[in-house]
Amino acid sequence: MLESLPKTVRVYEVGPRDGLQNEAAFISTEDKVRLIQALVAAGLNKVEITSFVHPRWIPALADADRVAAAFTSDAQVTYTALVPNERGLQRALDTSMSEIAVFMSASETHNKRNINKTREETYTAFEPVFAACAEQGIAVRAYLSTVWGCPYEGAIDPAESAEITKRLLSMGAYEVSLGDTIGVGNPLQTCRILDAIGGATSLDNIAMHMHDTRGTALANCTVGLEYGVSTFDASVGGLGGCPYAPGASGNLATEDLVNMLHEMGIETGVSLDALVDAGLLAQELLGRPLAGRALKACAAGRDSESTT
Ligand code: MG
Repeated sequence: MLESLPKTVRVYEVGPRDGLQNEAAFISTEDKVRLIQALVAAGLNKVEITSFVHPRWIPALADADRVAAAFTSDAQVTYTALVPNERGLQRALDTSMSEIAVFMSASETHNKRNINKTREETYTAFEPVFAACAEQGIAVRAYLSTVWGCPYEGAIDPAESAEITKRLLSMGAYEVSLGDTIGVGNPLQTCRILDAIGGATSLDNIAMHMHDTRGTALANCTVGLEYGVSTFDASVGGLGGCPYAPGASGNLATEDLVNMLHEMGIETGVSLDALVDAGLLAQELLGRPLAGRALKACAAGRDSESTT
């Protein structure tokens, strides 16, 4: 196992998009920009900052154009945004985005309920998006959700996820991020999924987007590391609940991931201390404590230092 672990891992920060999209309160554009700046200051070099979805669906991100206008990717940091359709792509093209992300579900039922298309219709809808991005030199990441389980269909056959992953890569995605949307994954299942996907395509182009709804996110990430997966999605403070379990944790907290990786001797380029600053800022902006455990532990450690 030790030989197969990656020496460095890329942490793909989704908090400003995946985290904030479930928030009922609208965080001002200025505060979103502050949070993104704090994340970048912590050393995160890939940050998904917003979604070009219609404001009717996600009012919390209604200021996507203004947030995107505040950032330009450079050699150090890539700012990216979710693009749900061609209209969203047009909005992204009006900014200086150098990368976008598209999404679909491994589950046919979830895909229909979430984006009102069959999976086949989704590929068709992706074609002009991939074509326009190829023409403009914009990198496309693809999210594949419900790989570990679907709220409607239950378990998803890993062979199906492998087939979809292969197809998305062949369409031009540089990476497919496999999502445990409802946080039901376990390590043995992760082995089966990565066996199937690794048999169909290279795991070099795979990222994992684990949810911590039932406390198994890091266990699943550890299996990913053993398979050589070296990109993991996470959200500052664990921002963003589980959309199918109100009140429950959703996204894996970035500090929890970074803390574990550093303790394992795996480099991320992220400063945990500065990441905690970003997490505390996120808590302040939302006016409530976030679920991340390393954030709590590190913040408590600071408090006890200051009182002794
Ligand atoms: Mg998520």
